[in-house]
Amino acid sequence: MGRAFVYVILGGGVAAGYAALEFTRRGVSHGELCIISEESVVPYERPALSKGFLLPEGIEVVLGTWVKSADVKRKTLLTATGETISYKFLIIATGARALKLEEFGLNGSDAGNVCYLRDLADATRLVDVMQSCIGGNAVVIGGGYIGMECAASLVINKLNVTMVFPEAHTMARLFTPKIASYYEDYYIAKGVKFIKGTVMSSFDMDSDGKVTAVNLKDGSWLPADMVVVGIGIRPNTALFEGQLTMEKGGIKVNGQMQASDSSVYAVGDVAAFPVKLFGETRRLEHVDSARKSARHAVAAIMDLEKTNEFDYLPFFYSRVFTLSWQFYGDNAGEVVHFGDFSGNTFGAYWVNRGNLVGSFLEGGSKEQYEAISKVTRLRPAIEDLGELEKLGLGYALAE
Ligand code: FAD
Ligand code: NDP
Repeated sequence: MGRAFVYVILGGGVAAGYAALEFTRRGVSHGELCIISEESVVPYERPALSKGFLLPEGIEVVLGTWVKSADVKRKTLLTATGETISYKFLIIATGARALKLEEFGLNGSDAGNVCYLRDLADATRLVDVMQSCIGGNAVVIGGGYIGMECAASLVINKLNVTMVFPEAHTMARLFTPKIASYYEDYYIAKGVKFIKGTVMSSFDMDSDGKVTAVNLKDGSWLPADMVVVGIGIRPNTALFEGQLTMEKGGIKVNGQMQASDSSVYAVGDVAAFPVKLFGETRRLEHVDSARKSARHAVAAIMDLEKTNEFDYLPFFYSRVFTLSWQFYGDNAGEVVHFGDFSGNTFGAYWVNRGNLVGSFLEGGSKEQYEAISKVTRLRPAIEDLGELEKLGLGYALAE
């Protein structure tokens, strides 16, 4: 059993949806393009986990179908249902999976009230569990993006929330202690408790297989009606290990998003691509890079000659409660904070080897965010950090 297509997109997430949009924008004939996804719904905007579906018509969509092996030399994919799908060009958009507690030597992921959040099925389940626990205790494991965003939603839905994570402050990979302390104070005022510098060691369970308490390494324990786990992700590269070159845990691609086999492209969370601005290969786990890398790969597939190298400025953002921040560039080097950390608008610049390389802003206007984005891309030389601090946001606005 088999089918053949010119273009196959493997994965049905954000990058897959944007690749499909770009194909149809540029024009593909009926039956030329196929998307294969394990999920039972067509690609949707993951950040909102809303039903903002991304798929235009005229594309062969193979849903609810797991691809179990790939043969890069033969240009074929084998599905769990036994179908062989062949391609001329493959776009790998398999994204990532949430890391499980078991991978840290712990147990309990299967408990009825332990939730992860990666796809629509997870989101539906999390909402069901949350609604059965209103007024109860939620323990959030992990102080990254999922932890921060879920803790805010749980509080809004009237649960008592405690966050537990090993680092000294939240969002340790991006926030400085000063930035983190602003958000933590805000969360504390909303009723969230933080337990830092320790990790969970085990769950107490009832006879229904539900968690009743979370035991911590420091010897303490927390009563729990539900648990949300957000302890990072791993890119879904397994199908291509040994067949394509890997780097930074992802599939290594060039500036056209082309993998070590020239018929294969990788986009989104799974791709490790050259970030020209920093002169190094990075794997980013954010929606803007998923969207843009997907469009770039399609442009390269359809017109390699005329497609310049991907020149991407990393962009991350989040919205929680009434807060909203954006970050552009790289958080490397020395940090200069600016603005009013007791008010609504503040930020930071990162200066590495004499150049401004990263900018963070909370509570900015559209114009202000555009200004920090623009200035970061320019990588201006900074001679006087004190002066930069004094000028603050004014520096970006004046450039
Ligand atoms: P995904 O969207 O994960 O899609 C991967 C797809 O591949 C899935 O459909 C999966 O089922 C499929 N797949 C994988 N392996 C196989 C296989 N073998 N066979 C068949 N199908 C397969 N980023 C931001 O910048 N801002 C945000 O506010 C933000 N919010 C987020 C909120 C949540 C809850 C989550 C989970 C992520 C959020 N992100 C955010 C991150 C962002 O969503 C990801 O960077 C983005 O989804 C990556 O897109 P992707 O297409 O590479 O992977
Ligand atoms: P993150 O990598 O953001 O954070 C994971 C956090 O969990 C880290 O602080 C990590 O610490 C910590 N951790 C690791 N192991 C343990 C443990 N055993 N116990 C407690 N804490 C632990 O991943 P998330 O899971 O929060 O997010 C998943 C993905 O979704 C990411 O790719 C993220 O980019 C994406 N996402 C993005 C959003 C956005 O951009 N607004 C919103 C939601 C999700 P350490 O650093 O020490 O490993």
